Amino acid sequence: MRGWAFYSRLGGLPRGRAQGKPTAADEAKMAHALALAGAAAAMGEVPVGAVVYETATGRVLGEGFNRREADHDPAAHAELLAVRAAARTIGDWRLNHCTLVVTLEPCVMCAGLVVNSRVGRLVYGARDPKAGACESLYAIASDGRLNHRPEIVPGVRAEACGDLLRAFFRRLRRGEA
Ligand SMILES: [Zn+2]
Repeated sequence: MRGWAFYSRLGGLPRGRAQGKPTAADEAKMAHALALAGAAAAMGEVPVGAVVYETATGRVLGEGFNRREADHDPAAHAELLAVRAAARTIGDWRLNHCTLVVTLEPCVMCAGLVVNSRVGRLVYGARDPKAGACESLYAIASDGRLNHRPEIVPGVRAEACGDLLRAFFRRLRRGEA
């Protein structure tokens, strides 16, 4: 069982310490990210959506949804596209003053991007027990050995985010997607 002691041994913060509560803006942006995930599903992509907004103002700076199939790009995850778009919008790769909202717990690559882009806050929906790198398999975004740790708000609209994924894979198994 990976518990708090496990992450503490790795030098990271105990789980929960860096976690905050969702704001009204987080909830609103998660609704938008869910709509983006729905658009991904309609294209036959695994439904994950992401939004980057300026924390103080709520202004959306970038958004994206999973486009791995459409772009033939293994890195075309929703978060990566949203973070890149946001950095282009502000003309700076540093996103300390921004919040990344994503429907699914980020993977190893995207959790690494959260660290590298210095995103100030990370808000996510459903946990990903198979690939999640923020609490499920790894805790990269709260690992004290790395030089940046965002505030993390997990579990926002987790039911809705997970339902979208489950419905997608159900359709896929039936050959309908
Ligand atoms: Zn990812």
